[in-house]
Amino acid sequence: MKDTAKHQGLRNQLVSVLQQKGITDKNVLEAIKKVPRHLFLNSSFEDYAYQDKAFPIGAGQTISQPYTVAYQSQLLEVQKDHKVLEIGTGSGYQTAVLFAMGAKVYSIERQSELFKSTSVLLPKLGIRPKHLTFGDGYKGLPNFAPFDSIIVTAGAPLIPKPLMAQLKIGGRLVIPVGGDGEVQIMNLLIRKTETQFEKHELGEFRFVPLLENKN
Ligand code: SAH
Repeated sequence: MKDTAKHQGLRNQLVSVLQQKGITDKNVLEAIKKVPRHLFLNSSFEDYAYQDKAFPIGAGQTISQPYTVAYQSQLLEVQKDHKVLEIGTGSGYQTAVLFAMGAKVYSIERQSELFKSTSVLLPKLGIRPKHLTFGDGYKGLPNFAPFDSIIVTAGAPLIPKPLMAQLKIGGRLVIPVGGDGEVQIMNLLIRKTETQFEKHELGEFRFVPLLENKN
């Protein structure tokens, strides 16, 4: 597993592409510059790792497109030591980006194969999320709540109530919604009070589905 000057050069180019596509948060761009995305992919995709594309990661899942990772990360408005909950650990790339941004990351994955391989990979790369769990993301992680922000990295048919309940006041939930089609609308929910949420519907994205009741 190597990270070379060539990879760094490709990451710098990727950052320029993301800036052209409208990503402005310096913390996000710095994190993308640091995280060796090629090490999160099967080596047969290594040459393409810094293209702005999604790729298969096994178990029928995908590593999100860098633009999507950057876009969602920017919406979270992560500050150092924020507690961030991620639903859908997958390859661990988004987890690594949040970690590089200074977040304390809690992440849930429901496919045991991916949970196991990513749990082994992250520490090897020096990436230390606070907590990786095998389980159902619809339920969130009540034992570790409340969170400063929550990111869902799979397309949800609806916004799970437990996730709303586990946000701090002022906290942000970023979730692609629209389960029955291939396209989802990125939703940003900001918790204003105990009972009030401000909802923003943003652009269209394509995610693999957030699945229920596997465990
Ligand atoms: N953040 C990942 C994206 C992976 S794709 C990355 O950067 O690679 C979405 C992931 O969500 C898949 O790994 C899938 O197995 C997982 N997933 C789907 N439904 C889930 C659920 N209910 N709870 C937790 N994870 C789920």
